[in-house]
Amino acid sequence: MSGNVLAIGAHIGDMDLTAGPTLAKLVLEGASATIVALTPGERGHPRMTVPAYKKQKIAEGTAFAEAIGADFQVLDHSDGFLPDTDDVALQLARIIREKKPDTIITHWKHSIHRDHEHTAVLAERARFLAGLPIESDDDFPAMTAYPELAEKLAELPRHGVRTFMHAENWEDMEGFVPTRYIPISDEAFYRWVSAIRHQAFARGETYGFRYIDYYTALMTTRGCLASYPRACAFHLNPTPEVTKLAGP
Ligand SMILES: [Zn+2]
Repeated sequence: MSGNVLAIGAHIGDMDLTAGPTLAKLVLEGASATIVALTPGERGHPRMTVPAYKKQKIAEGTAFAEAIGADFQVLDHSDGFLPDTDDVALQLARIIREKKPDTIITHWKHSIHRDHEHTAVLAERARFLAGLPIESDDDFPAMTAYPELAEKLAELPRHGVRTFMHAENWEDMEGFVPTRYIPISDEAFYRWVSAIRHQAFARGETYGFRYIDYYTALMTTRGCLASYPRACAFHLNPTPEVTKLAGP
């Protein structure tokens, strides 16, 4: 796995936790990585106001991405209300055409969060739209419904994304089966640890879940199964015929 990687999460922090160690590793190996959050995740704090937490989340996501050497974008959809419709998919498809990733990483399709499930659907739909011939004088349904977004997509050439992977997330575990393990070097791990500490929720300051402990332990567990000191697990979509434990 090399080249450009695009990680698409529902909320700021989702991909930072689940794909972050892998992104840190790939950046250290010379790849370019972009994290996109479809909503800021502004309703995730039990005490802060929504506008104040939104501002904090955007600052935290920016700091995380800078610390691992990734680009960061956040779309302004509403936390808890992300629709899985073609307008959002067109926005994402435009980002795919701009960034030209070889690999997309996103949520698994089943989750306790509807925003996460919708993100998995949107990422797959956007991958399809990014590769589809779309002309500005075309009158396909999305062009009629969302002319500005479709026009923006039509400005850039088509791009096909070779690899599509779902990251392992404790909130998205229903039916998740790892089919690929990516080894995480010590350097990438420690870069991720110091980067993720920029985020209050990951430090357990919102609802108290020990995110950093959980994902650190998970990397050790997955590393045991894959014969590496640490590893992150993914489900490749479509599932490859050969599912033997493998490195990049
Ligand atoms: Zn989330």
